[in-house]
Amino acid sequence: MKLKGDTVFGGRYRLKHILGKGGFSEVWLAHDMQTGLAMAIKAGVGTSGELEMNPAKAFASEYALTFNLRHEHLLLPVFFEVYHDVPCLILPYCEGRSAGRLAGKLSEQEAWKMLRDIASALDYLHNQSPPLVHCDVKPGNILAGSDGKYLLADFGICQKIGPSASGASRKQLGTPAYMSPERFVRGSTPVKASDVFSLGATVYELISGSSPFGQKGGIRLHKGAKLLPLEGDFSAGLKKLIERCLSKDAWDRPSAAEVKSIATDNLADKSSSSKAIRLRLHLPSFLSRLDDNQRILAAWAAFAFLCIAIIACIALI
Ligand code: AMP
Repeated sequence: MKLKGDTVFGGRYRLKHILGKGGFSEVWLAHDMQTGLAMAIKAGVGTSGELEMNPAKAFASEYALTFNLRHEHLLLPVFFEVYHDVPCLILPYCEGRSAGRLAGKLSEQEAWKMLRDIASALDYLHNQSPPLVHCDVKPGNILAGSDGKYLLADFGICQKIGPSASGASRKQLGTPAYMSPERFVRGSTPVKASDVFSLGATVYELISGSSPFGQKGGIRLHKGAKLLPLEGDFSAGLKKLIERCLSKDAWDRPSAAEVKSIATDNLADKSSSSKAIRLRLHLPSFLSRLDDNQRILAAWAAFAFLCIAIIACIALI
């Protein structure tokens, strides 16, 4: 079935316009006539040879896998249904657009925010029992919410890992440009650090404008490729963290928890120094040139002068 704008879908959702397209799906903005809410409908409108399963099965398993997850930086489906033979995942509508359009435009501050928010979501996934690996962290799967928060979306190839997840799919699906070297090894399973590599590749591309290893991705590290140092006016701390995320060996990468903590600390430092700058801006210009000790001395001198003036006034009276 071909979906069209302004039609009522499933007796409930008035379709407005397409927000984006995936491998075998279209994402539509829709008005839910029962609740009045704006929703995003991800509709399986084709078949996926890549997934070797039909969209209905793929969406149903994505819904089941994510059903119990709750995190402020995850954009999760709230419902699965098949309407007029079209399988659909219903998601909260996220007003901000995908980070894909930000390539080469992300500022230092936004890069730290993205690292903090997405690493926080990954840390949550990696600490599930059994752990979950997203497997497809990339700019197109990160959406910016209207409140400025970044959200991780699309759990279509998310995998359970570990001994108790032996039934999970072992297929190496993903987007090569963001995939870590170990994911190209035949028969291997993704590890938590694979997501950290993809997050590093994503932020590298968003600040520099090009992906770290081109469209072929981390496989090039097996062939001796070296990471091009990040150019531009970014702090050494940011460059170093991204480069660590992109280490060839998984164990040389920081955990998602470490990325989150470094990014949180950097944002806190920046906000306290900008508060200090704001405070300084309100001081008369001659005071803003003094250091803290000189300002204390100046305050005491002003106090002494005031006391002498009061005593002098009393004496005159
Ligand atoms: P996906 O097939 O999940 O990768 O989605 C394709 C594109 O649709 C994304 O890159 C977004 O631009 C858009 N999109 C997906 N989900 C939503 C949503 N919940 N709200 C707004 N836009 C979305």
